[in-house]
Amino acid sequence: MWGNKRYHTLNYEMRKTFGQKVIKLSLDGGFTCPNRDGRVGSRGCIFCGEEGSGEFAASRCLSIREQIDEQKRLLSPKWNTDKHIAYFQNFTNTYSSYTDLKDKYYEALSQEGIVGLAIATRPDCLPEDILDLLEELNQKTYLWVELGLQTIHERTSKFIRRGYPLETYDKAVEELKKRKIKVVTHLIFGLPNESREDMLESVKYVANTKTWGIKFHLLYIQKGTDLYHYYLKNPFPLLSRDEYISLVVDGLEYLPPNMVVHRVTGDGKKELLYEPKWSLDKLRVLSGIDRELMMRNSYQGKKWGLSY
Ligand code: SF4
Repeated sequence: MWGNKRYHTLNYEMRKTFGQKVIKLSLDGGFTCPNRDGRVGSRGCIFCGEEGSGEFAASRCLSIREQIDEQKRLLSPKWNTDKHIAYFQNFTNTYSSYTDLKDKYYEALSQEGIVGLAIATRPDCLPEDILDLLEELNQKTYLWVELGLQTIHERTSKFIRRGYPLETYDKAVEELKKRKIKVVTHLIFGLPNESREDMLESVKYVANTKTWGIKFHLLYIQKGTDLYHYYLKNPFPLLSRDEYISLVVDGLEYLPPNMVVHRVTGDGKKELLYEPKWSLDKLRVLSGIDRELMMRNSYQGKKWGLSY
């Protein structure tokens, strides 16, 4: 339906848009996060590691141009492509002055082979001038903005110390949609004290925003984080591989068919991962999702719009 997949992958969308494989180059713009520097909170989200939200990003000691060159050198031979999305991934990538952000975004855009920008941020870090800057960029290039929502449930958001209420996400989505900027929402499956129904409610909520894309993450416990220390004292049930696969497939069924699925697995660093260890075998998770979709004779959007 979408190439050889039963769901609308980013790879499919990129090939359709650019006529070939496009890969993301993960960058570290040298930003911090209001949930770490004291403006909103000082310890960050409970699962967030020292390196922030983008453990695979290039080194922040390098300029944006140097990071892009380095990432191209590492990734291009493997993927055999000359088209790239510059992905501002680490920490909060709209959390700086207008001038600093503008310089860094445009530096990325001016590099050879960069066909678009992806900017990961928090919904509470989109003031008017930055929204205007994003709107300007959106008219010049292929842009999307990623928002780390994780859950729609307030009690969980308090537990994970997300630091903003659901209305802030709603408002950010509204402002970005008004400017025709593509939005990608991150959700996490397996957060403590969330039932299967809770997690699927989050999926349905995001589905109903009719925004451009979504990422499903698995909650993994990274050594050294506050979640790790909490888990050692208060172990809570973690999802098994089969439970996770079944949840992702349920989630895909509730999405609109045109919503682009950017990710369906977690991607923690091997040396920092404490649990669940099965998450390291990404291929097995991906093939499990394909198999489950086939066994159910299902596909993304099968239940889209059915009374929710
Ligand atoms: S918003 Fe992102 S970077 Fe900031 S503390 Fe949470 S996970 Fe870490």
